[in-house]
Amino acid sequence: MAPLDAKKVLARAVIFLGPPGAGKGTQAKLVAEKLRVPHLSTGDMLRENVGKGTELGRVAKPVMERGDLVPDDLILRMVEDRIARPDAANGFVFDGFPRTLAQAEALNRILERQDFGPPVVIFFRVADDILMRRLAGRRVCRVCSEIYNVYDRPPKVEGRCDLDGGELIQRDDDRAEVVRERLAAYNRQTKPLVEYYRSQGMLDEIDAAAGMAAVTDSVFGVLGQPKGRA
Ligand code: AMP
Repeated sequence: MAPLDAKKVLARAVIFLGPPGAGKGTQAKLVAEKLRVPHLSTGDMLRENVGKGTELGRVAKPVMERGDLVPDDLILRMVEDRIARPDAANGFVFDGFPRTLAQAEALNRILERQDFGPPVVIFFRVADDILMRRLAGRRVCRVCSEIYNVYDRPPKVEGRCDLDGGELIQRDDDRAEVVRERLAAYNRQTKPLVEYYRSQGMLDEIDAAAGMAAVTDSVFGVLGQPKGRA
């Protein structure tokens, strides 16, 4: 019998797929904490680059401001560098990646090269009106990026993060006109990934319109018994 490769069986990449505002970021952070693996939000990584004024940040900034997707080659280089770091050796939770078919196909090759098994893919299903409310109400801590919602998950003190007292701000791209563009980009470029993973029998779907605790339960339910890994 071939020796069992622990990394292929245990270490996993978890992909959270779904429209902006579906709650992927909130859940991805919880899962990463629980599994003690890094939470890799390509959006957070890009915002960090924009904040620091790096070359990547300079290219990404105008693209993000209009709600479009940053070119695949830049995203892929950023992701591959990140998951090659030692803290990602036992797996990681992606949030906001992959977002195009080209990214998904490249990710398969990257995972193979780095000796990971197939990813667990969780699709957050949620209706458009709920998304609009979540995006319009979203506030993020300027210091630690913790996510709140003025309607569904308000902070204890208005405008301040519960964890570190940091100022809560609205992301520039959560303004209504940019939100429309981001949803359009999702429908055009990211939604096809649902079929891509479903046709390979790898898609686990959850009802993301439920409250936060119920969604967390669904996510952990899937992680206990993911498709394509049973
Ligand atoms: P997010 O925080 O995931 O909503 O991402 C914010 C913005 O960053 C998006 O609207 C895109 O402009 C850009 N972005 C984040 N992740 C990706 C990705 N995987 N591919 C292309 N652009 C991305």
